[in-house]
Amino acid sequence: MMTDIQIARQASKLPIAEIAERLGLTPAEILPYGHDKAKITHAAIASLNGRPSGRLVLVTAINPTPAGEGKTTTTVGLGDALNRIGKRTTICIREASLGPNFGMKGGAAGGGRAQIVPMEDMNLHFTGDFHAITSAHNLLAAMIDNHVYWGNDLNIDTRRITWRRVMDMNDRALRDGVVGLGGPTNGFPRQSGFDITVASEVMAILCLASDLADLQERLGRIVIGETFDRRPVTARDLGADGAMTVLLKDAMQPNLVQTLENHPALVHGGPFANIAHGCNSVIATRAALAMSEYVVTEAGFGADLGAEKFLNIKCRLAGLAPSAVVLVATIRALKMNGGVAKSDLGKEDAAAVVRGCTNLGRHIENLHGFGLPVVVALNHFAGDTEAETDALRSFCTDHGVEAVIARHWAEGGAGAEDLAHAVTRLAESGKADFHTLYPDAMPLWQKIETICTRIYRAAHAEPAAGVRKQLEAWEMAGYGDMPVCIAKTQYSFSTDPSLRGAPGGHVIPVREVRLNAGAGFVVAICGEIMTMPGLPRHPAAETIMLDRDGQVEGLF
Ligand code: ADP
Ligand code: MG
Repeated sequence: MMTDIQIARQASKLPIAEIAERLGLTPAEILPYGHDKAKITHAAIASLNGRPSGRLVLVTAINPTPAGEGKTTTTVGLGDALNRIGKRTTICIREASLGPNFGMKGGAAGGGRAQIVPMEDMNLHFTGDFHAITSAHNLLAAMIDNHVYWGNDLNIDTRRITWRRVMDMNDRALRDGVVGLGGPTNGFPRQSGFDITVASEVMAILCLASDLADLQERLGRIVIGETFDRRPVTARDLGADGAMTVLLKDAMQPNLVQTLENHPALVHGGPFANIAHGCNSVIATRAALAMSEYVVTEAGFGADLGAEKFLNIKCRLAGLAPSAVVLVATIRALKMNGGVAKSDLGKEDAAAVVRGCTNLGRHIENLHGFGLPVVVALNHFAGDTEAETDALRSFCTDHGVEAVIARHWAEGGAGAEDLAHAVTRLAESGKADFHTLYPDAMPLWQKIETICTRIYRAAHAEPAAGVRKQLEAWEMAGYGDMPVCIAKTQYSFSTDPSLRGAPGGHVIPVREVRLNAGAGFVVAICGEIMTMPGLPRHPAAETIMLDRDGQVEGLF
């Protein structure tokens, strides 16, 4: 059995200009980064304005388990399959963060015969976008402390600065710290810390901005903290928005790469799926829609978090509307949702599949609630038995949705042609009637309650002291129209990660709320959320190295 990296290495890639040409882009409209990566220029993106839009397909999944679901793998496999059946399709996914790469094994480029290449580059540095985001974020941090050092004209209360620093690495030692130590020449000491770059609001902004002007406008709106008289201080107040935009001007251009089967993929942006919305950039998705008949994209985590945010945040803010949703399930994850321990996954257990289907059924209902037609993709693993796949299929038939077995991991696009046909049938049926879950004008707390009761099926949401007052203050300040981004465990509909299946009637405690005025959403934190992950006892980094030929080993 070949590893992902071995398969990726054998890919016969086309020169990136040829992939661009298939999208109708001239050599002058791309900026090549070597032979197999390119950025699409701002001018080319602007020239796509007004073109008719292709159909958008969202790939999402049941609640994740350690057994793995394969959303990215399915996104890539479906994209290849749609191209094989004659639909000009572009894949849109997120870029990879270095943190998880060196921590837990696993990349972000798909797997098996359904991968994006060059996978080593995509998983390491790529075209430098995350470094640019890190720099832009930290420029603002430096300007805050510098402003205070030079006399603090804005009257910033240094105890209420919420803008931390970021780096693209899992490093728990940096979570909390004190900056400005060392005496008067080094500034004023204050408590702060680091988050991982993908948790930066700058990342979320880059992914939601429509162009450079909108990017600068949003960067200017970032609230970094408060003055002593409790008024918000913005990046624009500090004069940082222009220089931040300069640092981000190249990173704002989507990256073009290809699949193992030489079909186009735009890999751009990568916000966290908990405290941010967890999907690739709006600019890439729109460009892909203007250049293709179909665009297949992925949202992070399970459908309760990922798809909900994709629909209520990204689609709302960008005016996008999917034509169909692919809900990825695996027999292994269904069995785990049905109560089977990871160590027992090797044993056939169709009854556990049926029990686990309560989780699948809940997601189907939720997605139908958005007015979207759904097809279930069973991402086939070698150990799945016929009794188990039959159990899934009959559950889906009973619930009025089609379930298709997809073998793209083992067979590439050819293994997902049935899925591609099912997707085009749904997308072209005209059944999609997309609407968001709540209107812009709904009060912020009510938005939180609506998501908790309608999507998580909680009895109600429980605000910690001060939460409702804070939300009302933001409404008074003009931020009430924003959507809400819930940060919660991805493993359960509840806030208890061990409650698999389809729990209901629980209470969702809302510990804290944060304003992302630049990105344009309010974050509600429910449970423990890590914005700077740590490395495991034996991080993947221990086995990553160059072999004698200078090739990366041990990455995946
Ligand atoms: P997600 O996007 O849902 O996090 P990925 O698509 O990145 O998941 O897949 C996670 C891991 O599971 C990858 O290493 C991939 O190679 C593996 N994987 C996905 N589908 C299969 C499959 N059908 N059989 C075996 N391994 C798979
Ligand atoms: Mg993924």
